[in-house]
Amino acid sequence: MSSFIQIDGSYGEGGGQILRTSLSLSALTGQPVEFINVRAKRTRPGLQPQHLTAVRAAAALCDARLEGDAVGSTRFTFSPQTPPRPDRYRFDIGTAGATPLVVQTALIPLSLASAGSHLTVTGGTHVPHAPPADYLEAVYLPVLRQAGLHATFRYLNAGFYPKGGGQVEVDLLGGAALQPLDLTERGKLKKLTAYIVTSNLPGHVAERGIVALEKYMKGVGRTVRIERRDLPSPGTGAAVLLAAECENGRGGFLGMGERGKPMERVAEEPCEAFMDWWKTGAAVDEHLADQLVLPMALAAGESRWTAPCITEHLRTVLWATNQFLPIEFILDERPDGTGLVTLKGEGLEQGVGGRV
Ligand code: ATP
Repeated sequence: MSSFIQIDGSYGEGGGQILRTSLSLSALTGQPVEFINVRAKRTRPGLQPQHLTAVRAAAALCDARLEGDAVGSTRFTFSPQTPPRPDRYRFDIGTAGATPLVVQTALIPLSLASAGSHLTVTGGTHVPHAPPADYLEAVYLPVLRQAGLHATFRYLNAGFYPKGGGQVEVDLLGGAALQPLDLTERGKLKKLTAYIVTSNLPGHVAERGIVALEKYMKGVGRTVRIERRDLPSPGTGAAVLLAAECENGRGGFLGMGERGKPMERVAEEPCEAFMDWWKTGAAVDEHLADQLVLPMALAAGESRWTAPCITEHLRTVLWATNQFLPIEFILDERPDGTGLVTLKGEGLEQGVGGRV
């Protein structure tokens, strides 16, 4: 058996993304990992429920042996025993931890598995500092579809802080052979869609958000399609995701509701973020820029994408990926702060290289 590689969770951004990227890659390559200093740069370091569920999810896919996995743990080991196994999986974070982040951990290994899988994750669907469920649906998965990953996504219940209880589901075809992407010139804007999500709030809240959003977009000469989602949830909450689809690029911009914040602001914030992104000329938003690293590292060939800025998350994910795969990449930061990522992927398919 290969010896453990050590992943130092205090590197760079020092958050959960190092962990999730490494778990996906360990499951795919069969490489056992010793994680140390888990989420060392966060105010509550160590594995929190969302991260622990990602660990357990990744372990379930490849029957990994775990040691030291517990809430609060800053050190644990993860040793895969089999290649990712297609199956029906169900995970419950138990808190409002972000379900999309758990989905992202399992998605790529399962999409390369030999047959289809079904994944259900319960927890938060709209929480700060994480992609909301609508972002997976309208931004992340459509771009991955372009790269040859076939997944359908839905969620019928929303989960907000603190109660969680939302549920997302993914159906994956399996057997994907990921292709590189060239997302450098985004082309014209084809469609702007605003997902207005509310749970257990009076109807006028969503309506006020819609009015504010339409007013803003009218002011900047854009047409926006509104998709209102009044969803069941154990808790209360509101969020807006503004998704931009270009000829060759995508971005998603989140407005999160919170107590005391008027719904008008929840709707205007993503509009302002969209306009800021639009002015940069980048083909993907700053979050997609880091989320593309893992799939593109597994695609056979060179991918390129333009980002509105080069974030610490992006640098950190590149570093984590490089601990498992000998990827070649260039981060070209332009004087205006925008960036071009060039990444030559490994073309890893399940079982290739007999590493598992
Ligand atoms: P922590 O940082 O507390 O460990 P975490 O597990 O949320 O928490 P991060 O390392 O911060 O981990 O990673 C968060 C991920 O969520 C990144 O991939 C980031 O791009 C993505 N993300 C954050 N906010 C958004 C957003 N508004 N839309 C889309 N993606 C987002």
